[in-house]
Amino acid sequence: MPIYEYQCKQCNHTFEHLQLNTDLPPQSCPECGQAIEKLMSAGSFNLNTGTDVSAGTCCGQHSPCDSPKHCCGMSH
Ligand SMILES: [Zn+2]
Repeated sequence: MPIYEYQCKQCNHTFEHLQLNTDLPPQSCPECGQAIEKLMSAGSFNLNTGTDVSAGTCCGQHSPCDSPKHCCGMSH
């Protein structure tokens, strides 16, 4: 399930929203009720570790990496 991140245009409060199929996307800021916008970075990060879940394509390559934390001799 995708998790989208939104930011309030008014107070810059950011929050994540787990988008269910039956769910409507949030329309307003939970803090101040003003208009929000969806952030483009949403969904590309593992929220538990902060690790980019697309780490299989590390170092600009599109082939899977067996050890994404140390691929290409670099520590990510
Ligand atoms: Zn707000």
